[in-house]
Amino acid sequence: MQMANEVLHRADAMGEQAMSAYRRLDALAAKDPCSKANRALLGEIAMEYNYLQAIGYVADDRILCSSAGRNGDGLSLGPTNYVSSTGTRIRTMVDVGIGTRFLILQKDHYAVAVHPQTLLDTLGGRPNVSLGIYGNSQHFLLASRGSHEPVWLTRPHDPSKPISFDGKYLVATATSAQFDLAVYAAIPRSQLESRLHAFILILLPIGLLLGGGMVALILVVARQRASLPAMLRTALKRNAFVLHFQPIVELASGRMVGVEALMRWPANKEVGERPALFIQAAEDCGLIGRFTDYLLRKVVLDARRFFDQHPDCYISLNLSPADLQSERVVKSLGELITTPGVAARNIVVEITEHSFLEPTSANRTIDRIRALGIRVAIDDFGTGYSSLSHLTHLKADYLKIDKVFVDAIGTGSVTSEVVLHIIEMAQSLNLTVIAEGVETPEQADFLRQHGVTYGQGWLYSKARPMVQILEQYGPS
Ligand code: C2E
Ligand code: CA
Ligand code: CA
Repeated sequence: MQMANEVLHRADAMGEQAMSAYRRLDALAAKDPCSKANRALLGEIAMEYNYLQAIGYVADDRILCSSAGRNGDGLSLGPTNYVSSTGTRIRTMVDVGIGTRFLILQKDHYAVAVHPQTLLDTLGGRPNVSLGIYGNSQHFLLASRGSHEPVWLTRPHDPSKPISFDGKYLVATATSAQFDLAVYAAIPRSQLESRLHAFILILLPIGLLLGGGMVALILVVARQRASLPAMLRTALKRNAFVLHFQPIVELASGRMVGVEALMRWPANKEVGERPALFIQAAEDCGLIGRFTDYLLRKVVLDARRFFDQHPDCYISLNLSPADLQSERVVKSLGELITTPGVAARNIVVEITEHSFLEPTSANRTIDRIRALGIRVAIDDFGTGYSSLSHLTHLKADYLKIDKVFVDAIGTGSVTSEVVLHIIEMAQSLNLTVIAEGVETPEQADFLRQHGVTYGQGWLYSKARPMVQILEQYGPS
């Protein structure tokens, strides 16, 4: 459900951006829509909206010119596939000649191009979930990834039962309140057992829907549901979580400038190496505050050893959205930086875009953290909720480019161009960029050449226990 909601959130943001772009262009009522000045404007507007890869002027089903330039006598778009209930003409899988297929949304004479991947492709670590975005009024599939069953589009939408089980798949549906859009997320039953955390959210509705044959599964699930928070609590009490550290390096020199602390749960074979899963579970069952406390307590020992040898480096700590909803974390961070051997300049906190669902309290907490002298990085940028508007208000220090965008470098896909937009935007906001998930020298070169200062990834080092980091990087 959470994934369906997340994709819907993005699809809605994309819809809002498209509407906003149409409104601005309509207001223009240009005499020559393809004049040089107008094309420059299309380019400017396209840059401003992170989900719109290009904007074009359309007449007779041909794009005459676009933010990417003039198109001679026009590029044929082919027939419209779907007209939404709000009158937007939608074409799917349009090949604009650069090897990538776009979703084209047209209103009157203007059309925007959206890369479906930017809506669907960002949920790292959860590859088994099939996702689709569709026009709700006529059950028309606009973009999808993974398996697809036509019946998923025609499920009756009952907001009190957002999740159903079709015998093979568990399907969650989220419907837009604003646009003629809906999203499904489907996961095969065989995957369920390994996805404990998802159960916490979805158990009840499935329980109501399933027939007798599924009773056994419900029982298994119900046991896990009861025991997962208990397991997490016990593990916290037993000090069962350990910290690994992944170096963050200056791309130009390879010099380490800091490390990111990443949690591991060695005793748990299934999810121990995948904090995204158990941290998510902790968030779902309201235990995340205790995890953050644990993290801040646990990091002290390693921090002192680390700063002893690398006094100018920092340790970057991940905070969860819930941490920013209270003042508690400010107090704990205050205690951390008064520990002997640890200074405010040695600490960075990473927060994700999801934190800005509650922007007021998040901003207040961030201001207080920065007032302590601790720097703030925006993590997983580009994968969450459309954040441009929050970002411009936000006072942060670093922006971390998510691995999906780094992965796209050199693939020729539109996502690869998104990297350049993110870099440019970060620079205009005075944020220093850190690229995540750098795996190849080519990616590192590209990033460096385009003004990215720092990088982190397997090219340099995986996350490791502090002793190994200290062995790998001698005293500075
Ligand atoms: P994140 O903050 O985005 O952390 C970066 C993730 O990318 C880490 O995964 C890291 O091991 C992985 N990574 C880095 N470079 C590469 C690369 O070159 N290739 C590949 N394939 N992966 C790379 P990890 O350790 O599994 O952590 C996953 C997520 O769990 C983190 O994502 C973070 O959101 C969360 N997390 C981990 N520890 C904590 C914590 O102490 N507190 C909170 N709130 N969240 C945490
Ligand atoms: Ca992080
Ligand atoms: Ca990240």
